[in-house]
Amino acid sequence: MAKKYYELLGVSEDSSQKEIKKAYRKKAKKYHPDSNSETADEDKFKKINKAYDVLSDEDKRRKYDQFGEQGVEGHAGRGQRRAASSFQDLFEHLFGGGRRQRESLDLKIQTTISLEEAYKGVEKTFEVSRKTSCEDCNGTGGEDGKTSKCSECGGRGKVRTVQRTPLGRAETVERCSNCNGKGSVPENKCSSCSGKGVVEAEEKITVEIPEGVRDGQRVRLKDKGNRSETGRSGDLYVYVTVEDHEELERKDSDLFTTATIGVGDAALGTTISVPRPGSELNVDIPEGTQPGQVLRLDGQGMPSRRGQGDIYVKIDVEIPEDLTEEQKEFMEEFRGVPETDKSFFETVKDLIK
Ligand SMILES: [Zn+2]
Ligand SMILES: [Zn+2]
Repeated sequence: MAKKYYELLGVSEDSSQKEIKKAYRKKAKKYHPDSNSETADEDKFKKINKAYDVLSDEDKRRKYDQFGEQGVEGHAGRGQRRAASSFQDLFEHLFGGGRRQRESLDLKIQTTISLEEAYKGVEKTFEVSRKTSCEDCNGTGGEDGKTSKCSECGGRGKVRTVQRTPLGRAETVERCSNCNGKGSVPENKCSSCSGKGVVEAEEKITVEIPEGVRDGQRVRLKDKGNRSETGRSGDLYVYVTVEDHEELERKDSDLFTTATIGVGDAALGTTISVPRPGSELNVDIPEGTQPGQVLRLDGQGMPSRRGQGDIYVKIDVEIPEDLTEEQKEFMEEFRGVPETDKSFFETVKDLIK
């Protein structure tokens, strides 16, 4: 019988290892089922791998030369995978420059919330289009969920391969390519998902956005991303934008605002209303309050893991422009040089010290 393995690789029976390797690379690249080319042919690819496995091993090659396929039977299964896996390395080297990047299964969505919502925490519901487990086959890919044990890996979903390297035997455990790591294969492909076990579907997903969430923070929902055909699930990330508030400026968990009071209120003291996310606070202004003075409202700021922040209120004193003669007379008594005023943030720094 003609030596089939040599024919498969297109080399002569006396070719060198180098020639065999070169021929194998060329053929494997041509027929590799993942190569997306028109010549992709899984069956042919497997045969080429089998041939290469035998011919690349001098010991097996000798047996094959003497006894044909029977001489090397029993090794083929394992060797085929070894060759396939060494081709995988080559394939990655040629096209990926290293390990082939796994397609990300994570999904990202964005939401904008108000400072009030960030203050209390909020529940948001999204319509998310994602790949999810096929309900008709329960994600198995088999019609009516019927599957049978994968013959390639014996249902383990993994295959053990042994590679000879210059340093000795290297054993690796890899995902079974026949069943995609599931350990089972569909008896008849499920018609809803074409045997993939996953379908693209719209789903309402409710996200709890925690109180104190910061602008730009993301909330992760485990396993709510896309589902792969191999049964892995990605995560869903919700990126949160917190809108600016009209009166409150946020810095970490603290909030800053300015309140304007009249000269009389500053001199004599009063009660003012200060904004807080979603509500207002009544704050006593002591008599003799200075323009630019900052009041700290302890624990009234945004919630955070380190506790509640504070609200800082800068007091602006409005100097009246149109005074009556009577008021002018009265104000004459207050003529004098005012003390220099510190800037808002300097005053805040002094308070924090
Ligand atoms: Zn299905
Ligand atoms: Zn398998």
